[in-house]
Amino acid sequence: LFGRRGGYQSARSSIQRHARQTYLDGGKEKKCCVCGYSNHVDVAHIRSVSSFSTDTLIREINDIDNLLPLCPNHHWEYDAGIFKF
Ligand SMILES: [Zn+2]
Repeated sequence: LFGRRGGYQSARSSIQRHARQTYLDGGKEKKCCVCGYSNHVDVAHIRSVSSFSTDTLIREINDIDNLLPLCPNHHWEYDAGIFKF
């Protein structure tokens, strides 16, 4: 997954796009699971993308059970380790 098609950053953005699509296709609620904000929702990974080995399939990383709807603020706080689920 990594190493092809322009490296790590590009892989990360493909994963993010795919995560969003997977989440929306899963018919889940589009609102932040912390504060309920729904105007803009990111899809965060419960188990971080970087913790998977580089040969992991995108559908394993983006398993619906590994995805979490968060507003940009809570996504940032989550990635910064301010809170955990
Ligand atoms: Zn929020």
